[in-house]
Amino acid sequence: MPAIVKTKPAYGAELVEVDIPKPGPGEVLIKVLATSICGTDLHIYEWNEWAQSRIKTPQIMGHEVAGEVVEVGPGVDTIQVGDYISAETHIVCGKCYACKHNRYHVCQNTKIFGVDMDGVFAEYAIVPAQNAWKNPKNMPPEYASLQEPLGNAVDTVLAGPIVGRSTFITGAGPLGLLGIAVAKAAGAYPVIVSEPSEFRRKLAKKVGADYVVNPFEEDPVKFVMDITDGAGVEVFLEFSGAPKALEQGLQAVTPGGRVSLLGLFPREVTFDVNNLVIFKALEVHGITGRHLWETWYTVSSLIQSGKLNLDPIITHKYNGFDKFEEAFELMRAGKTGKVVFFPHK
Ligand code: NAD
Ligand code: ZN
Repeated sequence: MPAIVKTKPAYGAELVEVDIPKPGPGEVLIKVLATSICGTDLHIYEWNEWAQSRIKTPQIMGHEVAGEVVEVGPGVDTIQVGDYISAETHIVCGKCYACKHNRYHVCQNTKIFGVDMDGVFAEYAIVPAQNAWKNPKNMPPEYASLQEPLGNAVDTVLAGPIVGRSTFITGAGPLGLLGIAVAKAAGAYPVIVSEPSEFRRKLAKKVGADYVVNPFEEDPVKFVMDITDGAGVEVFLEFSGAPKALEQGLQAVTPGGRVSLLGLFPREVTFDVNNLVIFKALEVHGITGRHLWETWYTVSSLIQSGKLNLDPIITHKYNGFDKFEEAFELMRAGKTGKVVFFPHK
């Protein structure tokens, strides 16, 4: 079968023919119906510093997935052939201090498929049964595949009250766009988005942002203050990983407001903690991964409610992997929302 493989420690990847794997104990084999590209896949493709320190080649890339179970390994009793599943990509140990406190999303022994082992950019893929999430049969595969990053967005947006609350979102990359969709579905108003890329500001509007601003041309803090009559927003959600955006968001949030930080910063960040966090009495949440499994229930229900506006976010669909390089380059250039492959053309 064809698979997108990180064949060597250098820029890029290759489409190669590999054997269909056999599920081992506790594993299932799925026919991949849809698989989407995550920013992490792009980092592996680009072979950035993080990828160099973490990834062992050769390895099949990819982790966001929806598929049909075609074979189950020994000892699997929770999943059956024919089940339609997605997958939590964090394989947690269940034994560490965090896991024993039901904080699986911060398991200190987390392994990730497509990062620490073969992934899902292939026609068939192995998923540990403990990570499988059963989907309703009528959920389109491209939505089902997006549930994993949607889980990040849900944990970011719903870390506190949001209905009827003014919300400022920095960064409308794939994750920020999912965040906008969740915030709108949950009843946030107004949703104000800061994003330098014109293409992505337009997408943000299509997904439901009430106001968009280019932070490189206009002061986004003044923009927010004008809309909120000088009060600032109740909720600030950071999805960009840009140090400047973090500072602007902390300035734009009202004293006593709520902050969720998902974006990862390229280096240490310096800002005025006294005046921007402590004296404003902000509630600050660091967001990592997704809560297992509460967040998956929320994501699945939100999709089924029909209230999540996902279609404008899925900007590129590819039948097969033949054009995978084009897909990665478009994503690198910031010219995409989410990119989805359907491996079986
Ligand atoms: P992305 O790089 O595609 O999107 C970031 C967006 O921020 C881009 O559209 C960019 O134009 C915009 N941006 C840049 N500077 C800005 C500024 N000053 N103000 C406002 N916007 C600005 O990334 P993504 O895939 O959407 O992911 C978003 C972030 O979330 C990344 O930093 C990623 O590393 C992080 N992430 C965190 C977790 C977690 O568990 N915490 C999981 C996945 C991704
Ligand atoms: Zn653990």
